[in-house]
Amino acid sequence: LYILGIETSCDETAASVVKNGEEIVSNVVASQIESHKRFGGVVPEVASRHHVEQITLVIEEALKQADLTPAELAAVAVTEGPGLVGALLIGVNAAKAFAFANGLPVIGVHHIAGHVYANRLGGGLEFPLVALIISGGHTELIFMERDGSFELIGETRDDAAGEAYDKVARVIGLPYPGGPHIDRLAHESDGAVEFPRAWLEEGSYDFSFSGLKSAVINYVHNAEQKGQPVDKAKVAAGFQESVVDVVTAKTVRAAKEYGVRQVIAAGGVAANRGLRDSLAAALEEEGIRFHVPPLKLCTDNAAMIAAAGTSMYRAGVRSDLRMNGRPGMELLSWAAARPSEK
Ligand code: ATP
Ligand code: FE
Ligand code: MG
Repeated sequence: LYILGIETSCDETAASVVKNGEEIVSNVVASQIESHKRFGGVVPEVASRHHVEQITLVIEEALKQADLTPAELAAVAVTEGPGLVGALLIGVNAAKAFAFANGLPVIGVHHIAGHVYANRLGGGLEFPLVALIISGGHTELIFMERDGSFELIGETRDDAAGEAYDKVARVIGLPYPGGPHIDRLAHESDGAVEFPRAWLEEGSYDFSFSGLKSAVINYVHNAEQKGQPVDKAKVAAGFQESVVDVVTAKTVRAAKEYGVRQVIAAGGVAANRGLRDSLAAALEEEGIRFHVPPLKLCTDNAAMIAAAGTSMYRAGVRSDLRMNGRPGMELLSWAAARPSEK
């Protein structure tokens, strides 16, 4: 069962063919990071233009590398939302045109479901599980009782973790995207500035990163005003410690409360070494398995969209040609409700 995945929700134009929802046959990602760097973030109009220029080539390349004809595919899966509307529309329209021209069904996939199913590529999902989604636009804890079922148990009340990483990086003069640079500096540092941890109310699985971000900004501005040098590595290390402490503690607590045997992490910030090490150690102590995709599959790609799309395809989900990009799309379960839940 071969499915073509297409992803254009943000600043990566990507297409991929995945076999049986778990094996990557081809995976093409055209990144626009270089074009957005000088603006310090993603500029929506620039993103749309790049997607238009790249999408056809990227899809052709994915099929060529897979050595497959469209007739050998079962369906086309595409990111329907959430994301930048102008960016989503390019992928959705390319997917609809491709599907229509080749007589294939098209399936609209939630971007975050894609990040979750990246864990099925070369790994495994063992249900029930808790998924930590930690990326440029999301920070969420999700309980998955089974394949295709999602229950949101906590989310950020302000900034996403990746957003905070990128803003803090900017304040200490690191290039965009800042996450990997902070990660590297934090590891090289031999000390850390102490920053607050946002635990929120007792028992809450929600997150908040804007207070931490402000604390870092204030620290840097105060030092600058006094003419004192800022030790970037110590700031990076202190910021990262605060994020990692809170995220690890809440994730482990959720895993215990929901009685799961596996925790998976997904999204760009799941590439963070400090976070991966901390989660792995804390979960091992509890006897809970931990899985995180290889670095390349943590950030946006189309293989993860094809993997999620395969689970949806097997569950009988199909979109129709009226599908449009949905910037504020909600993550809904596609697993059929059990008789007792109806
Ligand atoms: P979303 O998936 O929520 O729509 P997005 O697609 O923009 O958002 P991703 O591409 O999944 O997000 O992740 C990008 C984010 O990951 C950026 O904020 C980047 O700084 C962060 N990131 C990447 N590598 C690391 C790292 N090693 N440590 C921390 N953050 C990282
Ligand atoms: Fe993403
Ligand atoms: Mg991205």
